[in-house]
Amino acid sequence: MQFGCYAQVAKEKLQQIPEIDLILGVNEKNKIVEYVEELQAKREKVVQVSKIEEQKEFEEFGMITYTEKTRAVIKIQDGCNQFCSYCIIPYARGRIRSRTPEMVIKEIMQIAQNGIKEVVLTGIHLASYGKDFEGDLKGVYLIDLLEKIQKIDGIERIRLGSLEPTLITKEFVDRLSKLSKICDQFHLSLQSGCNETLKRMNRKYTIEEFESGVNLLRNAFPNVHLTTDIIVGFPGETEEEFSNTYEFLKKIKFYKMHIFKYSPRNGTVASKMPNQIDGNIKEERSNKLIELSNINEENYNKEYIGKNVEVLLEDREGKYIKGHTTNYMMVKVVTNEELENTIQKIAVTDMKNLELIGNLT
Ligand code: SF4
Repeated sequence: MQFGCYAQVAKEKLQQIPEIDLILGVNEKNKIVEYVEELQAKREKVVQVSKIEEQKEFEEFGMITYTEKTRAVIKIQDGCNQFCSYCIIPYARGRIRSRTPEMVIKEIMQIAQNGIKEVVLTGIHLASYGKDFEGDLKGVYLIDLLEKIQKIDGIERIRLGSLEPTLITKEFVDRLSKLSKICDQFHLSLQSGCNETLKRMNRKYTIEEFESGVNLLRNAFPNVHLTTDIIVGFPGETEEEFSNTYEFLKKIKFYKMHIFKYSPRNGTVASKMPNQIDGNIKEERSNKLIELSNINEENYNKEYIGKNVEVLLEDREGKYIKGHTTNYMMVKVVTNEELENTIQKIAVTDMKNLELIGNLT
């Protein structure tokens, strides 16, 4: 069986693979049981991939909301119009579609009634939320939605998924900082710390603009933790370009960085670019950045030893219950009490394997 993005862009190739009996597009995944039944009845290959570019509205039934004991991940937006040169998503997931505020609020209210305290809003390109609205909803953007979610009783934390740096304007941060439930951890996907590389990636910002967004957030949220994604070994990335990235990352000091070695996606502009980078060089660059990320995380965490933090306790792990602070540090506490899904003050005493350990206060 194959479904999702790859089926969306490579249906014909998949049809030629004898071992694959069922090929479904991203819009079909909600009806997966029906298609498996059809497959069993027909006993021959079933292919159903609808044209994603024709879809204009958010597909409610195709939406997956993931709920843990304490936290619910809510998808509020799908699709992307950005066309970064390495990314297949705009072809596979189509244009931006936002879920209406009414539907999002309704779902979060239900989640709150079930005792969930934290919601994480996700989407393919959250910064585009609302840009597709017309009629009465025209002019409703992500910040407007966040202001509505802030008012929902029972929800105590609102966390944002990956954000495009262009969203971080003065007006956005001013309004965001007035929302007490917003978690002070933001994932800003930088991808490269070198303007030339960013240009080839078709990213729509410069490192200077990125840095001014970082300063806005750091001024508004004193304990903010910033995380990011970086691609190493993008076509044409010279030693000098990589070194620019490294220096920029050292300067920004992200809490954590997710490092990806560039790998070409068929059908994208970057896959046809000259000067593809050798695998060993990618490995070397990746290791260097992972090392930097670990150093940053350790330094940030160390600063909390001896301090008190508020943790939403999530799961038991042996003698510990572990959870996260608003700025997304993992903290473990020794206790026999059943404190899952409560927010507790913890005195941090130690750190092991980048995780903080503490006692209930
Ligand atoms: S990387 Fe993100 S912003 Fe760029 S095209 Fe892909 S989904 Fe859109």
